[in-house]
Amino acid sequence: MKESTESNAGRRKHQIVIVGGGAGGLSVASAALKQRPDLDIAIVEPSESHYYQPAWTLVGGGAYDVQATRRAEADCIPQQAHWIKQRVATFQPNQNQVTLDDDSVVGYEYLVIAAGIQLDWNKIEGLEETLGKNGVTSNYSFELAPYTWECIRKFRGGKALFTYPATPIKCAGAPQKILYLAADHFRRNGISADMHYCTAGNVMFGVPFYSQALDQVMAHYGATPEYKHNLIAVDGPNKKATFEVGDNKEKSTIAFDMLHVVPPQSAPDFIKSSPLANAAGWVAVNPGTLRHDTYGNVFGLGDCTSTPNSKTAAAVRAQSRIAVSNLLAVIDGNELTQVYDGYASCPLTTSKGKMLLAEFSYDGKITPSFPSDPRVPRRSYWWMKTTLLPKMYWDMVQGRPGPDWHTEREFPVELPAIQP
Ligand code: FAD
Repeated sequence: MKESTESNAGRRKHQIVIVGGGAGGLSVASAALKQRPDLDIAIVEPSESHYYQPAWTLVGGGAYDVQATRRAEADCIPQQAHWIKQRVATFQPNQNQVTLDDDSVVGYEYLVIAAGIQLDWNKIEGLEETLGKNGVTSNYSFELAPYTWECIRKFRGGKALFTYPATPIKCAGAPQKILYLAADHFRRNGISADMHYCTAGNVMFGVPFYSQALDQVMAHYGATPEYKHNLIAVDGPNKKATFEVGDNKEKSTIAFDMLHVVPPQSAPDFIKSSPLANAAGWVAVNPGTLRHDTYGNVFGLGDCTSTPNSKTAAAVRAQSRIAVSNLLAVIDGNELTQVYDGYASCPLTTSKGKMLLAEFSYDGKITPSFPSDPRVPRRSYWWMKTTLLPKMYWDMVQGRPGPDWHTEREFPVELPAIQP
């Protein structure tokens, strides 16, 4: 990794500036440099650590070491890239520059934005004060995921609530995956649990094909789905959660012994307030080419963009190939030929030992990597989740995205036997 210094003109400038050194930013930087080692790339990333977030579900379920989900950012940034260890504060796309937190400016010829999604913990009254104690936890943070396992391990019976907010989130399956892991643990240990899945939505999963199978998994554990339940407040010391329920948003308070919260999420504030955002705050890119709608030298990928796919690292894997290819085409003055089909996948841990691999693309097309019925939870997929997918992730951020076998396939309408 190189140092990025101010030029004689007193303003740093790089050929390509990448905002965010997470899954998307690192994948694009490493893959582009593998193809063209002479590219001048700077990555703006404030964090000293890089996290493999998809394993936090396993951490919360007592099946993965949290320390194995973190690597030093310095070890992840490609050797040939410059690391600017700061936060982007604002964008000036008409001047081809970004301004950093310390008011310094970095110019670019091409910009790639991969700044992730913002966790709005503060939108739920009383939540921040009680997270990590009183049985209130969340797998959506490195610090808290181990406390989820502590809550599950120490649960001696009673009511356990698992929430899903009223906003887009990263990994839409994560709120229910941890319910299944907890339910499996309780069942194996003879613990009687009254489990409720409290979702602001009105279905189990956004893709109907998989949703029906997941209804069965929920029923298998005797857990109650509570639709149109949006968590708005938590009273930790008294162990009470308040929801807005139904279309009339009537308030309902439920006592709990354990509460797993998925926070409301949104586009990062510095993107929302920028000229690069759409009305909802996301980086406004073409859903196929990932090129910005207005600024032809700007690309976006990952959780912070307007593309209507499921926000996952699996989507980043598919998007990074497209982003790199189209970015290099723009640099060469060529037409953009690569189109993202909206692919994402959600590895749903249905028990400690089995997983259902939901793979799909834009418009709910079923696009699995393998010919077998993807609604069936399998032991081999659990091995994939705990062993293969982490390896594939770390390879991806080093510019080796691995094979891509997903393709549209047809399956019988009738649901196969589901044994979580
Ligand atoms: P990130 O990887 O989050 O990276 C964003 C980067 O931008 C961060 O490093 C951040 O520090 C940086 N940044 C933020 N603000 C600024 C700024 N102002 N200036 C510069 N840099 C900035 N995906 C799956 O595919 N499968 C799963 O099973 C799965 N499970 C998940 C379970 C949980 C509990 C969670 C939390 C996530 C899960 N995901 C899963 C989702 C996956 O982790 C994300 O979709 C993926 O990391 C998105 O990549 P990204 O590059 O968009 O954002």
